[in-house]
Amino acid sequence: MTINQEWVRAALGGGPAGGGSAAAFDVAMVQKINACDGHVHVTLSGAVPPEARQGAMAEAERRIRAAAAAGGETLHGLKVEFASAGAAGAPKTVSLQQAGKPAGGGGADAAGPARTGGPGATQQSAAPFLPGVKHVIAVGAGKGGVGKSTVAVNLAVGLALRGHSVGLLDGDIYGPSLPTMMGLDALQTNIIANMLQPFYVHGVKAMTIGKLVDPEKPLIWRGPMAHGAFKQLVEQTQWGELDYLVVDLPPGTGDVSLTMAQLMRLTGAVVVCTPQMVAQDDAVRAVRMFQQLGIDVLGVVENMSYFVAEDVTPAREYDLFGRGGAEMMAQRLGLPYLGAIPITIALRKNGDEGNPSANFQGTTRLNAALENMVTNFEGQVGLAAIRGGARPTLSVS
Ligand code: ADP
Repeated sequence: MTINQEWVRAALGGGPAGGGSAAAFDVAMVQKINACDGHVHVTLSGAVPPEARQGAMAEAERRIRAAAAAGGETLHGLKVEFASAGAAGAPKTVSLQQAGKPAGGGGADAAGPARTGGPGATQQSAAPFLPGVKHVIAVGAGKGGVGKSTVAVNLAVGLALRGHSVGLLDGDIYGPSLPTMMGLDALQTNIIANMLQPFYVHGVKAMTIGKLVDPEKPLIWRGPMAHGAFKQLVEQTQWGELDYLVVDLPPGTGDVSLTMAQLMRLTGAVVVCTPQMVAQDDAVRAVRMFQQLGIDVLGVVENMSYFVAEDVTPAREYDLFGRGGAEMMAQRLGLPYLGAIPITIALRKNGDEGNPSANFQGTTRLNAALENMVTNFEGQVGLAAIRGGARPTLSVS
């Protein structure tokens, strides 16, 4: 039998092994199991005192290893951890390093990354972790208009609704969408001790260049200026402690992605694509860019997958763009598929009205599709952590 969720659950229920203690671990502690290609990630939770957690994790790990050895299964990776406290506690602030000169002001930052060395995986592996942030996630697309910002916004809100503490950075410095999509238009920008205070909306801490510049002015950045602007948004925003920082990248394969890869270590990237052939070609380029930068691609989301006409009963579905095209592309590239989002009037309307929380209300196809995407995404983050893409966790013994 291959290693899957049921296999792991059975292994965990198999009793103490290898000198373990039955008292240390209880299957009731198992909150989530992800298993794929011999990689297993188990999340435990429950009212367990900190000093007992280590014992529970060790026992769970022992049971899985013992079952694998007994069944002749190969474990390529195994990680057992306790769920973080999530957003329940008040976010603690961390002191972030001050950015250099203001955006576009020249100075040291203006040298730009592209001039100091070519892109490459080594740059990402040498990049530091962002202080206080557990997972940095990029959302990218090969071309504009495919719903990249929509996916970034709804991923962030969906994660926040599950109790994670989430930041959302509008890295699309050429065409920021967050002021509209997150409903920031009427809010004032707040700076304390030279640090930008993120807008706390829909359970998410959001920051965008769109609130720092004249909304009607075209945003024309040369490479080094784009580098400086992005760096400033990352480093001069008081993110505090986050489980996820979701970065909405500009479309295509440009300077900002390179800056991001050098500036901070990412857990991975999500690529958004519509089903059409022409969109897939561009999405493949985005996938290759992330891979070239050494960024793990966590999966592909098929947006505008199909249209649901809800004015007839039962609702009818139309495959306008060739549903399944992006899923096939993901398969071809050996990438996880994170799910399909239908073309929905509500999604567009809630985006225009800055009310993404409404997408998660009620029993709708849209809500189900978004929840499915968030679940698949969380699974892939768990697996990426095993592969080594995430911030190492400190274990206290
Ligand atoms: P991108 O970031 O790729 O340029 P956006 O997320 O800004 O794309 O989406 C472009 C427009 O399409 C927005 O008005 C958005 O509300 C709308 N849109 C995106 N995805 C969908 C969808 N699945 N159904 C309906 N409208 C959508």
